[in-house]
Amino acid sequence: MNIPFLSFEYMHSLMRQQAIDMFTQFYDDQYYILGKGVEIFEQEYAAYCKTKYCVGMSNGLDALFIALKTLGIGKGDEVVVPSNTYIATVLAVSYTGAIPVFAEPDSATYNITAKTIEDAITPKTKAIIPVHLYGQACEMEAILALSQKYHLFIVEDNAQAHGATYNGKITGSFGMINATSFYPGKNLGALGDSGAITTDDPMLAQKASMLRNYGSKEKYYNEIIGYNKRLDELQARFLSIKLKKIEEFTILRQQIAAWYNSALSVIPEINTPTIAKNSTHVYHLYVIRTSVRKSLQQYLKNNDIGTLIHYPVPPFLQKAYSQLKIKKNTFPLAEEFAETSLSLPIWPGMNQEMVSYISELIMKFYKQRKSF
Ligand SMILES: *Cc1c(COP(=O)(O)O)cnc(C)c1O
Repeated sequence: MNIPFLSFEYMHSLMRQQAIDMFTQFYDDQYYILGKGVEIFEQEYAAYCKTKYCVGMSNGLDALFIALKTLGIGKGDEVVVPSNTYIATVLAVSYTGAIPVFAEPDSATYNITAKTIEDAITPKTKAIIPVHLYGQACEMEAILALSQKYHLFIVEDNAQAHGATYNGKITGSFGMINATSFYPGKNLGALGDSGAITTDDPMLAQKASMLRNYGSKEKYYNEIIGYNKRLDELQARFLSIKLKKIEEFTILRQQIAAWYNSALSVIPEINTPTIAKNSTHVYHLYVIRTSVRKSLQQYLKNNDIGTLIHYPVPPFLQKAYSQLKIKKNTFPLAEEFAETSLSLPIWPGMNQEMVSYISELIMKFYKQRKSF
């Protein structure tokens, strides 16, 4: 069996006719920038996140950047980010001129916690970016309490966790202003780059909306120095179609994860993710940890199973961030995760037979190692 790391085939076949009809309409409407498709999707996504406002953005990184800019974060400020996040979270902070300060994840959930964030807070800290990594919600109540104690903004990075909840409340609705990505591979993925911010605050929504569109409310009247970070009209129209299916797709992801969990939990050499009390996990990624990652990945590749590593180098050890002068072993958990994590295929359309096949290959791999 050949199982790719990601396939859109099942999801896209379900939406194929709708997508083609949508494209015909889009083509004929002849309104290609900030048309009614963007406006409709913004309303739908805000309703989905139970926030008052959504403002569509060009991609997840831009959404994070605009969220921080909207809050006035810049030079001289510090923003706390997870030590094991994707580089985009960190880059958004750098774009504003602020300094990213890293907080370690919890070894069981892989997410930052109120405790690890508190250790990173200084008098210069202005905001915290909790990342609901791999699809599991961070412990948002404790993090919110911490933000109140120190008067900090929360900006959720919800790129990997569309639909996840903490204590029944959906991610993307906790922070002052939150950012997400609709990169095609994300749970709610478009057919190209796109993203959004969500907020309950009308002033922040308006400022974010101006910043994304040349600093203007009214065409050709520019009130602030803005950017062009607009959500594309075609992507917005496709996202409206996919949003109607997101809950169905999430249930499929959770079913696949449950199959993996029960098959892999009998292998002591593998660490499978723990779900925290009160959190739900929407399984953007199914990440295991193993000390023999390289040979397991090669073995799976030889057997036509696609895997990826999220992520092989922590952001603070990337060449791009060498100016931070952070030495190895400063954030040992993030480094350990980078050395041991392996993401297995998880996409709507995978059936139990496929998960069993992959799980049995992994079991066979460990049995062979033992017999040496
Ligand atoms: C994908 C991702 C982003 C960036 O999204 P883009 O749309 O690719 O810019 C930011 N943060 C996290 C955690 C992500 O996974």
